[in-house]
Amino acid sequence: IKILAIESSCDETAAAVVVNGREALSNVISSQIDLHTLYGGVVPEIASRKHIENINYVIEKALRDSKCTLDDIDAIGVTYGPGLVGALLVGVAEAKAIAFAKNIPLVGVHHIEGHICANYVDNKDLKPPFVCLVVSGGHTHLVVVEDYGKYRILGKTRDDAAGEAFDKVARAIGLGYPGGPKIDKVSQNGNPHAYEFPRAKITGSEYDFSFSGLKSAVLNQINLATMKKETINQADIAASFQNSVVDSLVTRAMHALEETGMKKFAIAGGVASNTAVRKAFQEECSKRNIDFYRPSPVLCTDNAVMIGSAAYYEYINGTRHGWDLNAIPNLKLGER
Ligand code: ATP
Ligand code: MG
Ligand code: FE
Repeated sequence: IKILAIESSCDETAAAVVVNGREALSNVISSQIDLHTLYGGVVPEIASRKHIENINYVIEKALRDSKCTLDDIDAIGVTYGPGLVGALLVGVAEAKAIAFAKNIPLVGVHHIEGHICANYVDNKDLKPPFVCLVVSGGHTHLVVVEDYGKYRILGKTRDDAAGEAFDKVARAIGLGYPGGPKIDKVSQNGNPHAYEFPRAKITGSEYDFSFSGLKSAVLNQINLATMKKETINQADIAASFQNSVVDSLVTRAMHALEETGMKKFAIAGGVASNTAVRKAFQEECSKRNIDFYRPSPVLCTDNAVMIGSAAYYEYINGTRHGWDLNAIPNLKLGER
């Protein structure tokens, strides 16, 4: 089964051709980062307009790179939520048009299911069940992947997502947008123990996360330094912040592995490309004899290969969407 997949939920216009959910024949990503950097974050109206300008070129290139034409495609997969409604609509309308014109099935995909499925492409031996930690710009979910397309959410963030915390702290310490990769980089020259930032615990929900207190602690530290007319060490702040995030993620995930008795663990989403996150989980998993899976960094951040993989498993599970498929900005994982 060859699926042409389309992703346009945020600020990446992406298309890919994926075979049987595991093999990417092409992976085209047109990022709008430069445009949004001007404004310090994604501007929804600009994102939608750029998707419209880019999408046909991105799809044509995905087909060309995979040496396919639309006649070789068995189904269209598309992200229909969650995300920015105007951005999602561009991909959904395009997917419907192609599926209708070629008379092939249309499969709508949950964006976060896509992030999880990126693991299937880069780890050919990975099969459910396993525990997965999704850490992206808008989500921090600890999930048991019970089977393909079957998810049980153990915990999630009460406030900011992990990636959101990276972006906000980066802005506060003057690193700018997008913050995650910049904090990752400067942290390599910083002392992760220079500042003791909090690790929030949520009483009664051992699997839930909270990052807004951490963000405030970093801001307080900066304000304090400004008041005392001291200079802050950007690298030390970044590294200490990152260390606190990593700690919170590791503690919950390892606890979930112990409680469920599962021996396989995967990470997914943009923050899963973080050097310290990857290193910490690698170490903790090998200590506990747990198989650790992660996508290559390009498949951690938004792309259409992951949507092609998720669409394949939805497709073989029988999911088909009609011409009334709509963008759902707050779609929940596991909803159809
Ligand atoms: P969601 O998937 O929740 O809808 P999104 O699609 O915007 O949100 P992703 O594309 O998965 O999010 O990831 C982007 C996020 O990942 C941003 O917050 C970004 O700062 C963060 N990120 C990317 N690379 C790194 C890195 N190396 N270290 C830390 N964070 C990173
Ligand atoms: Mg993005
Ligand atoms: Fe994403």
